[in-house]
Amino acid sequence: MRFQAAVLRSYDSPFTVEDVTLRTEPDDGEILVEIAGAGMCRTDLAVRRSAGRSPLPAVLGHEGAGVVVRTGGGPDTALDVGDHVVLSFDSCGHCRNCLGAAPAYCDSFASLNLFGGRQEEPPRHTDAAGKALAPRWFGQSSFAEYALVPARNAVRVDPALPLELLGPLGCGFLTGAGAVLNTFGAGPGDTLAVLGAGAVGLAAVMAATAAGALTVAVDRHPQRLALAERFGAIPLPAGTAGLPERIRRLTGGGAQYALDTTASAPLINTALQALRPTGSLGLVARLHTALSLEPGTLDRGRGIRHICEGDAVPGLLIPRLTRLWQAGRFPFDQLIRTYPLADINEAERDCDAGRVVKPVLLPERKSR
Ligand SMILES: [Zn+2]
Ligand SMILES: [Zn+2]
Repeated sequence: MRFQAAVLRSYDSPFTVEDVTLRTEPDDGEILVEIAGAGMCRTDLAVRRSAGRSPLPAVLGHEGAGVVVRTGGGPDTALDVGDHVVLSFDSCGHCRNCLGAAPAYCDSFASLNLFGGRQEEPPRHTDAAGKALAPRWFGQSSFAEYALVPARNAVRVDPALPLELLGPLGCGFLTGAGAVLNTFGAGPGDTLAVLGAGAVGLAAVMAATAAGALTVAVDRHPQRLALAERFGAIPLPAGTAGLPERIRRLTGGGAQYALDTTASAPLINTALQALRPTGSLGLVARLHTALSLEPGTLDRGRGIRHICEGDAVPGLLIPRLTRLWQAGRFPFDQLIRTYPLADINEAERDCDAGRVVKPVLLPERKSR
């Protein structure tokens, strides 16, 4: 099967939209999905800084949503042709953390999703010249018209939903909302500080507001603060003098929870200083340097931990988020701007410049 996909050929080149060939007979436990839309996530762009660890050339994209067009056999394939699905991250299904309903902490998470994928012999994707492309990214490679994915990563959704916009529920929005709803278990009257109001931070704001919690959002982009305010947060510019004290005052003595999406050491220290005793800080962005903490920031029962994929079981959290959206309480569609897949480089530039919160790429079906 031949169709168009966006291929990243080197760490510093633009994406090229080109014909690729996919072996399309799904194996046991796999499905073939016609992609309706795929979100662009920071992790796609971080491949450029992966120092060669993520193999290229590759079809990236790991926030896909689409329609099942073919199914393989096997016990995992409880999906039928025509089902609408959101695709989430890959996990092995049989390690200790997968068995313990914590698939984001799968022993094989990094290798399956980021650094090479499952063994593919022969390779599933080849380019127009017949050369092998890297194994699928995050079990998907959804910057394409079609993706062949493990059925265990696909979550069936209501066909009445706007399918082309749902992909980011599989990673970015899941990460922010899951941190609030799963990791923190925030409820009415709880207090939360969100550092960095991008796709993950704004999803956290929306989930906190839906849960009845009070949120203070910090960012350096005024447009993003305006969005945070629209979704119920108190906005604070990142450069505000005495930021920790301001947050403590706004949250009645310190936030119970803080979520950092920036990986900035000064902001992580700010977040800890803004917590009340016993408060917890969650980190979702990968640190690129050593992190030094100011004396006293962890005193009095304060804690800090990394949160991967919002501690989510996608099959549980994604339907919860779509129900909230249907009730008007998780308006994630307001964060999205759509682009034809052919404009993927423009989407990347807009994302880097902070002009768009969540680009979603729509394949054009010229090649069918
Ligand atoms: Zn596992
Ligand atoms: Zn992602």
